[in-house]
Amino acid sequence: MTQDHTPAPTTDPAPAVNRRTFVTGVAALTAAGVGTTALARSSAPATASPAGAPAAARRTAAANAGDDPVGMLKKMLSFDTQNFGQGGKTRAHAEWLKSVWDAAGVPAEIIPTPQPDNVHLIARIKGTSTTAKPLLLLGHSDVVPVERENWSVDPFAGTVKKGEIYGRGALDMKGANAASISALLRHVAEGAKFERDIIILTDCDEEAGSYGSGWLAENHWDKLDAGMVLTEGGWFIAQSDKTTPMLISVTRQDKVYFNLDLYADGTATHSSKPIPDNAIVSLSRAVAAIGDDLAPVHLTKVTREYFEALADATDDRRWERAIRG
Ligand SMILES: [Zn+2]
Repeated sequence: MTQDHTPAPTTDPAPAVNRRTFVTGVAALTAAGVGTTALARSSAPATASPAGAPAAARRTAAANAGDDPVGMLKKMLSFDTQNFGQGGKTRAHAEWLKSVWDAAGVPAEIIPTPQPDNVHLIARIKGTSTTAKPLLLLGHSDVVPVERENWSVDPFAGTVKKGEIYGRGALDMKGANAASISALLRHVAEGAKFERDIIILTDCDEEAGSYGSGWLAENHWDKLDAGMVLTEGGWFIAQSDKTTPMLISVTRQDKVYFNLDLYADGTATHSSKPIPDNAIVSLSRAVAAIGDDLAPVHLTKVTREYFEALADATDDRRWERAIRG
């Protein structure tokens, strides 16, 4: 999903939210998407227990990674995965993240594309059911290009200032990736069992080049075949103190753009002669009129519910009254 890619440094509200809130966030999104997904807590080892390190050591590794989502995000931001239109160079990022999954005992596979260093990463946490379709968490690891002159900090350092983290991709969407992956690692470390397989796809090209998730689906469908996909779009919204979690939203539909083709006819003549029906002038008047036009606001059932939920959740009474009004 393409988002608003502003050149200014992005901040991510997620790091200010504690670990339990991340877990709640993922659970809330999951429950909204797949009603029957069961998450059962158990003292038994996680279902995903491949060979390698002893289970206790794997759980310690997963707990450490899951305990530190901010550290994970800083590490993700340190990889330069800019996408200039042909996908990002994501191999180093994918190799590091694969090592995190490996340490947690979760199988993970790097999927190369025909382009050098432009790779996908797929991890899979095995579920208990043999019939329920997997849940796919999709998070792209490429980021939009950086205009260095607009940055006051190194865009690939993950600088934390006054409780906010700065870095290209903090908002779109390494922050969400760090939140969901660290929450899953914590669940695995704690011995949680999921009914469905959970597939975590960290892809290398958000719709810009030729080898993104569409290419992956065409060439590796068996690795992606899922009953539900969750990806970016919702928000963790904080109270006005910027730290207390307020609401976790799930996007149903992004705003979409609307293209218009404008045509104007006029008398063809030498451009030194001002003619009242000059086509360019007619066209410019039309463009200005469209620019001045404000479309009426329509509240749909979904947007009404959204504002109601915001009003219920906020601790700012003035804002609550404004929203309800
Ligand atoms: Zn995005």
